[in-house]
Amino acid sequence: MSAGKLSVVGLGPGDARFLTPEAQAALDRAEWLYGYAPYLDRIEVRSEQRKIPSDNRVEAERAYEALAAAVEGRRVAMVSGGDPGVFAMAAAVCEQVERGPEAFRTLELEIVPGISAMLAAAAACGAPLGHDFCVISLSDNLKPWTLIERRLDAAAEVGFAMAFYNPISKARPWQLDSAFARLRERLPAATPVVFARAIGRADQRLRVSSLGEASGEWADMATLVIVGSPATRVIERPGRPPLVYTPRRA
Ligand code: SAH
Repeated sequence: MSAGKLSVVGLGPGDARFLTPEAQAALDRAEWLYGYAPYLDRIEVRSEQRKIPSDNRVEAERAYEALAAAVEGRRVAMVSGGDPGVFAMAAAVCEQVERGPEAFRTLELEIVPGISAMLAAAAACGAPLGHDFCVISLSDNLKPWTLIERRLDAAAEVGFAMAFYNPISKARPWQLDSAFARLRERLPAATPVVFARAIGRADQRLRVSSLGEASGEWADMATLVIVGSPATRVIERPGRPPLVYTPRRA
């Protein structure tokens, strides 16, 4: 039996332009490719490669299955949007390695990084993450909302810019507006807020606003929200979209 291997591969935020050569090479080496169906749809495979799509909700099972297939001797890739280590499959795989059979620990495992949504979003509008910042998932599926509130308060208190993943969904309609309301009590109304939707894809949309104006209606599941620090600035430019940046000196 050939030696199996699991590669957890970041696809970047959008189309193939954002896929690194290393990620493409890992995909090319794989026999079986696991992942959330829309991510697998983004990649082209050869006829002898096999895609095994799964639903968004079954990450633990997907990670276990991919590890088990690799233990059986398959060369397996698990794909993630953006970077696999940012609110994605790399941690789910590590959880199964920790919890699962001993064979999972001896297996060859590689994590191939990708361009995370926050980096692509920041690049699309300037450099809002140019100084200290923090990253928060606004999903309360895996943690209580009260913990998210404490983290928002702490981030505002110490002057971090913030990148919000998973800002809103049909099942979580109120969380983003609640976060804005909380931050309005702690940060100036003029604090820049960027809504970066589907960055790197054909339907990319960028909206620069302020904390005073920001509305959860402007976000959907494919949006990354950046809230600036009190130092973050917006530079208006004639005939060009504004630049948002956070100076490197506090
Ligand atoms: N591992 C991914 C994040 C997965 S969580 C990464 O590193 O980017 C899913 C969330 O990522 C979405 O709700 C959205 O907030 C953000 N996201 C993913 N792709 C995006 C894109 N192309 N543009 C803007 N936000 C994106």
